Amino acid sequence: SETILEVKGLKTSFFTDDGEVPAVDGINFSVNEGEILGIVGESGCGKSVTSLSIMGLLPSPPGKIVGGQILYKGEDISHAKESRMRKLRGNDIAMIFQEPMTSLNPVFTIGEQLTEAIRLHNHLPKKELESRAEELLKMVGLPRARELLKEYPHELSGGMRQRVMIAIAMSCDPKVLIADEPTTALDVTIQAQILDLMAKLNRETHTAIILITHDLGVVAQVCKRVVVMYAGKVVEEGDVRDIFNHPSHPYTEGLIRSIPDLYSKKEKLYTIKGSVPKPGSIKQGCLFAPRCDYVMDKCWTNAPELVGDSHKSRCFLHQEQA
Ligand code: SF4
Ligand code: MG
Repeated sequence: SETILEVKGLKTSFFTDDGEVPAVDGINFSVNEGEILGIVGESGCGKSVTSLSIMGLLPSPPGKIVGGQILYKGEDISHAKESRMRKLRGNDIAMIFQEPMTSLNPVFTIGEQLTEAIRLHNHLPKKELESRAEELLKMVGLPRARELLKEYPHELSGGMRQRVMIAIAMSCDPKVLIADEPTTALDVTIQAQILDLMAKLNRETHTAIILITHDLGVVAQVCKRVVVMYAGKVVEEGDVRDIFNHPSHPYTEGLIRSIPDLYSKKEKLYTIKGSVPKPGSIKQGCLFAPRCDYVMDKCWTNAPELVGDSHKSRCFLHQEQA
């Protein structure tokens, strides 16, 4: 299938009193029409900055795209005008966020907010707006749609609110949906339902989805391909199954071990020691070295490249074996 979105050497920095801080440092990935691509990594690895860069929603200043390209259907939108981005956001690329941060307005009913979203790209008479809103609510698995339209956000559960947000995002019939930690605030059962819903919408509408999460378990449930980000760089990329069976970067290995296991009796979850370095704070060598169980002498001085074809990784260990 065809590439719909391509991120090429994207560099996004924040300009602070300490100078230029690179939050995303030359990443590459592409999304095919109709696929679900996972982007995984701990918070602070540059995932959200990547999605905000794509959407043209980077807080600017201090944020700025300083290099590379973002190609949507071949058009470089990395420096597109706000008017162009607004058009793309209304018709082509939609986004949903973590539930409590989603922007349902507490003073308007679900119906008012949903019909307003539809009206932005569809000039329909009032009656048709309402039936389209009902249709969308049904599409996202919300029963008794007619009553729901009259309710306010606080009358709904977190999972239902996230379904409404998905309905709003899907109202423009987007080609790409960026979902940034869409299930993080929800409990495990609801999380699985929302992921099922996204997989269903992807099958039915062929909308490509970029699923951004810190939880590789979430990726495993719905994605075929995954990009692992660490400290602003891609450290591993490939087919989800390959990556689970043969992780080729110690960071990915750590993320796999950190997946919450519903059936395990273990009290405490595995966590990777240490924390993500501040962007720009490590000046040489492998950015993962301070946290790596396999660190070698050269890792402190030399920076590994991302190497491989369908399964790529950025680690000397796996490059020596290859
Ligand atoms: Fe660990 Fe070295 Fe591989 Fe970096 S290059 S992940 S420090 S083994
Ligand atoms: Mg984030």
